[in-house]
Amino acid sequence: MSVIVIVDDRVTNRNIFAKLAASIEAGIVVRTFGDPVEALGWLAGNTPDLIITDYKMPHLDGAEFIRRFREIPKAVDIPVVVITVYEERSFRLRALEAGATDFLHSPVDHHEFVTRARNLLKLRHQQILLESRASSLEKKLEHSERTRATAMRDSREQLAQVIDTVPVMISAANAEGRVLFANRQQAAFAGIDVAAITGAPLAELFGAEHGARNRSLDRVVLETAKALPPFEEEIVGRDGEARVFLTTKSPLRDAADVVTGVLTSSLDISDRKKIEAHLRHLAHHDPLTDLPNRTLLRDRLRRMIVRARRGDQQFALHMIDLDGFKSVNDLLGHAAGDRFIQLVSSRLADTIREHDTLARIGGDEFAILQTSVTNSEDAAEFARRILETVSECSGFEGAPLRAAASVGVAMHPADGLTPSTLINNADFAMYRAKAGRGDSFCFYEADTHARARRDMALDSDLRRALERGEFVLYYQPQIDLSTGAIFGAEALLRWNKPGEGVVAPGAFLGRAEENGLIVPINEWVLREACREAKGWRDASGEPLCVSVNMSPIQFQKHNAPLLVARILGETGLDPRRLDIEITEGIVVTDFDAVASDLRRLLDLGVRISIDDFGTGYSSLTYASRLPVSRLKIDQSFVRNFRPESHDEAIIRTIVTLARSLDLRVIAEGVETVAQMEFLRSEGCDEAQGYYFGRPMPAENFRQLIQTGVSVERSPRRASA
Ligand code: C2E
Ligand code: MG
Ligand code: MG
Repeated sequence: MSVIVIVDDRVTNRNIFAKLAASIEAGIVVRTFGDPVEALGWLAGNTPDLIITDYKMPHLDGAEFIRRFREIPKAVDIPVVVITVYEERSFRLRALEAGATDFLHSPVDHHEFVTRARNLLKLRHQQILLESRASSLEKKLEHSERTRATAMRDSREQLAQVIDTVPVMISAANAEGRVLFANRQQAAFAGIDVAAITGAPLAELFGAEHGARNRSLDRVVLETAKALPPFEEEIVGRDGEARVFLTTKSPLRDAADVVTGVLTSSLDISDRKKIEAHLRHLAHHDPLTDLPNRTLLRDRLRRMIVRARRGDQQFALHMIDLDGFKSVNDLLGHAAGDRFIQLVSSRLADTIREHDTLARIGGDEFAILQTSVTNSEDAAEFARRILETVSECSGFEGAPLRAAASVGVAMHPADGLTPSTLINNADFAMYRAKAGRGDSFCFYEADTHARARRDMALDSDLRRALERGEFVLYYQPQIDLSTGAIFGAEALLRWNKPGEGVVAPGAFLGRAEENGLIVPINEWVLREACREAKGWRDASGEPLCVSVNMSPIQFQKHNAPLLVARILGETGLDPRRLDIEITEGIVVTDFDAVASDLRRLLDLGVRISIDDFGTGYSSLTYASRLPVSRLKIDQSFVRNFRPESHDEAIIRTIVTLARSLDLRVIAEGVETVAQMEFLRSEGCDEAQGYYFGRPMPAENFRQLIQTGVSVERSPRRASA
């Protein structure tokens, strides 16, 4: 219902206008006022939809009336029409300035009056509608804003609750290594109050050592802006108990997507690990004696062979078969037979040394892997002790039994280079011993004199080879996995033996280590490799690096740093271009002396890699305690690599270890694109293997650095 107010001092006009106004639409309410002041009084408490006012009135003219009217709250939007007889612009201007909406000329045209008034009313109604819509929208908005805020607060609280209750330690640190946040699990494990942790240095949360490791891993995440693949780590809690965690680290980004910190979460997998270890133990041990079984023996053999590749370690495999065990069973029954086996196994266990392996590989068959053997006499002496030990079990449980065994011995490397040949040959020797009279041992190769003669011949051949320059170096490319470019090569020794062709080092290095010829041979290798590498430039003119294998024997006299310095001086090779590959075998007795030699080499600017990494007993300790620059993952883990295998876990652990120690890591034995892809995804820095190129003569390598290797293609066979 519309309300129209009419203000005019003349009664006639008021009546006419009121009638016209009432005719605009049905139900219109018209209020008329003769006095504008009186009208203002009414307007202060009422809101009309349209005002029609005369201009010339006593007390107040139209302009002043409008000005005062517009001062009333809510009056700003109400249309006011001024009726004026004055033609002069100045009146209109005043009225406009005061807030008039429209004008009508007096005498008023009735039709025009009605039309204008109707239009203005329509406008007014639309305006009111819009206003009410806007205000309801505003209310709705306000409401939804309020519910959103509550929902946000609720979900944030819920999230915080979840974070605090999940059985995972969660924390975040900023680029300066200060804690941004830690959940309750984390704080409880560290034994600190959650409230006190924000802003504390990482060491406070994790302890000094683990804190430093975390810090360097965080740096990798901050630099690469990428998450680290999950890795396993052992963490000691405040209660002193070490537990195993599966840890992930990922970048923390701000609203502008800039990495500002690192989020770390660690899931406790200690229980799972214990079960796994138990299952592994079951799979690798004999249930009756709890000794390693055949599978584990093979695995230990495989590792020993890798370690002995440089020839610095011989070892012997003894196969032991009890003589006449069947009669124990027949005489005393199976339960007693089992007890007899247990007795023999515990006696044998007392005869072996720390790194030796005693395995039960069949009903009455045992095997002993004897490490640190210098010659066949050592092995023979040990075989005699085995026989003696078994014979001490005679008269078992009071029965009239003479216990005895037959033992077959195979030596590495002379009697075989693989686990299978060693096992077969030791078995063969054992059958020979049994076929004789039993209670005795046999070597695989009975004629030790013939072996000695062969050794002597090899000694003189090697001496001659050195004099006549029959040794050559082959080079195998090393690739930077982030660019796919060759950055250097490993120098690998070959013997161009007259009448026999190219001989690989496995066939003669062992002998050279034994007779000491390794020292002059390796000195030649070092000089030759430095001389050759001095001329290497890649396509962009950048010099390349060379890796040289050094023998542990060369470190025994502690003159290796001097030798290296002299040869670098002679050949003029930039020390930063030389990488020296050592193995764990380097630390035979005096750890500190070797460490100080390595430190002196590093001081020269030379780099040091630990070769065949992961195969030794103390890899982890040596990696953190010896001064080195790079870890070289042994090819046995890489070559046979399959996803989700044991090898995968080892590789991952080595890469993580290298990262936390700030060492580079190279993988050798890369033969397939899948292996390369995996290594790259794990964050391994460098690689070497047949996939990129086999060891090749110097000339071929010089050509290769001009063309480069095609990393994504099928393996190239540059040379044999
Ligand atoms: P290493 O230092 O671990 O060298 C890597 C060996 O793995 C080389 O055997 C190389 O040919 C081989 N290899 C590289 N990539 C692959 C691959 O993808 N698949 C397979 N199956 N094998 C691969 P090589 O040349 O017979 O050398 C054997 C070992 O002899 C070396 O092992 C090193 O311990 C020793 N050696 C070689 N040259 C010297 C030397 O000048 N001085 C000393 N002291 N030892 C040397
Ligand atoms: Mg090597
Ligand atoms: Mg190696």
